[in-house]
Amino acid sequence: MTIGIVGAGQLGRMLALAGYPLGLDFLCLDPSGDAPAGAVAPLLHGAFTDRSLLRQLARRCEVVTFDWENVPGASLRALERGAHAARIAPPVAALECGQDRLSEKRLFGELRIPTTRWRTVDSRKDLERALAAVGLPGVLKTRRLGYDGKGQALIHTRRDAARAFARLGPVPLLYEEWVPFDCEVSVIGARGARGEVAIYPLCGNVHRGGILRLTRAPFGPERWQRLASGYLRRVLAHFDYRGVLAIEFFVHTNKLIANEMAPRVHNSGHWTIEGAQTSQFENHLRAILGLPLGTTRALGHSAMINLIGRIPPRARLLALAGVHLHDYGKQPRPGRKVGHCTVVEPSAARRDARARRLAAELAVAVRIP
Ligand code: AMP
Repeated sequence: MTIGIVGAGQLGRMLALAGYPLGLDFLCLDPSGDAPAGAVAPLLHGAFTDRSLLRQLARRCEVVTFDWENVPGASLRALERGAHAARIAPPVAALECGQDRLSEKRLFGELRIPTTRWRTVDSRKDLERALAAVGLPGVLKTRRLGYDGKGQALIHTRRDAARAFARLGPVPLLYEEWVPFDCEVSVIGARGARGEVAIYPLCGNVHRGGILRLTRAPFGPERWQRLASGYLRRVLAHFDYRGVLAIEFFVHTNKLIANEMAPRVHNSGHWTIEGAQTSQFENHLRAILGLPLGTTRALGHSAMINLIGRIPPRARLLALAGVHLHDYGKQPRPGRKVGHCTVVEPSAARRDARARRLAAELAVAVRIP
């Protein structure tokens, strides 16, 4: 059975690597000829909108999924039509909702999931109104195509706001309150063909410069897990979802405030490869194929550190006992996620001590409380 993956980044690569032991084959589509998944699966090289390549993908694959949240919804809908229609999972509606911060905020509101106070900004006048309604400080974000902290600006003063508007515009924007969060967490879960749901232990995330640096799991008190799981279930049920979905939250005064959702496997879930009974990648495949979901139980206490910019010398990393290295095979570039490494320990205290040493070894400046 062949699974199509629209987008052949590191997430597609890890999906394929999780699927081979299950006897699955993969075919990817990506505009970049040296995309990471292309090294482990056949790659159709071309635009996401290339109708002829999309037709090939539909003809050769039973199910098509995606590894990037900005794949055009219209391309996926085209795959669902015609003589060789392929099934798409997760649903295109979830993908499209996650592509626009406005529809995401509206969805959180509709499902009574707490989120930041926000206003849309399409003009200088809107900006004035948003500042008056939401207050300072705040964050001005592009509604679409923002990732890893790109397309956003922290606003302390009206002058910051004017500058940020000039820099980020003239595209549709959203202004939201800045949350002085105690920490950030994410919840990741899979929903299968019969509506069954499997949710992973909560992830505690540390970002710097808008980029995820460190994830620890399991993380936080039972109450946070309960809240996050409840919110995740609402989103999964709303879309009659199939596959893995993640929601990121700010934690402030013991409340979870939803920041954004990702209708796909998620960077903060990479620890599940070694640290959970079934990885998020395998569970995504099981879910989209209508197979039974695997247990999401943690096998210990995991820490995952992203390798940004370049991979440190491999021999140095592998000399550290118990470190699992994942090199995505990408060209080094400042700010680019090129790999990650994970450690799994028997207790949270040992994991945190291990993560501190590993961060120091990798010269990753994260504060690990
Ligand atoms: P995003 O692209 O929305 O996921 O933002 C990337 C990171 O920027 C988040 O994980 C936070 O660390 C930070 N951030 C974004 N929005 C806010 C906010 N409203 N308040 C505080 N921090 C934020």
